[in-house]
Amino acid sequence: MKAAVFVEPGRMDVREVAEPTIVTPDDAIVRVVKACVCGSDLWWFRGVSQRPRGSLTGHEAIGVIEEVGGSVRDLRPGDLVVVPFTHGCGRCAACRAGFEANCMDAEPGGNAGYQAEYMRAAKADSALVKVPGDPKSHDDATLNSLLTLSDVMATGYHAAVSAEVQPGDTVVVFGDGAVGLSGVLSARMLGASRIIAMSRHEDRAAIARGFGATDIVAERGDEAVARVMALTGGEGADAVLECVGSAQSIETAVRVGRPGSSVGRVGVPHDARIDVDALFWRNIGLKGGPASVATYDRTVLLPAVLSGMIDPGRVFTAAFDLDHIQDAYEAMDERRAVKSLIDISAV
Ligand SMILES: [Zn+2]
Ligand SMILES: [Zn+2]
Repeated sequence: MKAAVFVEPGRMDVREVAEPTIVTPDDAIVRVVKACVCGSDLWWFRGVSQRPRGSLTGHEAIGVIEEVGGSVRDLRPGDLVVVPFTHGCGRCAACRAGFEANCMDAEPGGNAGYQAEYMRAAKADSALVKVPGDPKSHDDATLNSLLTLSDVMATGYHAAVSAEVQPGDTVVVFGDGAVGLSGVLSARMLGASRIIAMSRHEDRAAIARGFGATDIVAERGDEAVARVMALTGGEGADAVLECVGSAQSIETAVRVGRPGSSVGRVGVPHDARIDVDALFWRNIGLKGGPASVATYDRTVLLPAVLSGMIDPGRVFTAAFDLDHIQDAYEAMDERRAVKSLIDISAV
């Protein structure tokens, strides 16, 4: 089968590799329908973080179950599933509390191999999210929205939940990539009445407005703090979503909330330093981490997509086939695409 492979920073390739097989009885083999490139993939694509050369890539997909192991109960060949980047066992303390990204029984080795024709999914019953109904009944736009439930939409929602967004709140969202845009949409779902999106790219700001942003702020750092304070009558926001992870973004995020507000963090941190004493004197809360993807999908996000309440698939602004994986990464690296979709097979 064909799979995307990391060659070296700045270079992807598509190679012929062995098809995955069932390794443990709770595995499933998934024929990938759609995969995509994540903003977090750009860290190693740019050589900022390390990744083994020759390794398979991708951690976001939807697909059709091809084969299941002997202990899989809830899935059958032919089922359409969201394949989250999380692999919760559903039984440990972290999973029972709804934090399956922190599963204490996780297989070592991490995420890989979703940008391929087939992939192996561990802990299939608990980790995969079955999409109800006839798999062929969903139109392409719905499939794209389902694909975002493998990571970015759930991650944006985790930012909003972690920031404790309440109905009527004024919310600030840092990050205008797919996760930040999903954060805007999530703040709207949770009832925010005013959503200030930090963006300096018109194509992304347009999507943010479509998702519910009421104000767009292009400034950064001290100027961003001043602008948010001016927009909120000097009070600051009720909740803040941090969806970037850079030192500057986190440092700014903890300064734009009112006393007693919380910052929900989902941007993968890189060299961030936070002055915890400064948080203390203003009663600022700080929470977040890898998202509870399957939990949010099953309880909130899957019904919201299938009912047409949300259409997070709009974050995909460019589509490629697997043979053009290099172009898919470059389009995001050069900011020509908000998020690159990879169409791999038909449902
Ligand atoms: Zn991702
Ligand atoms: Zn677990």
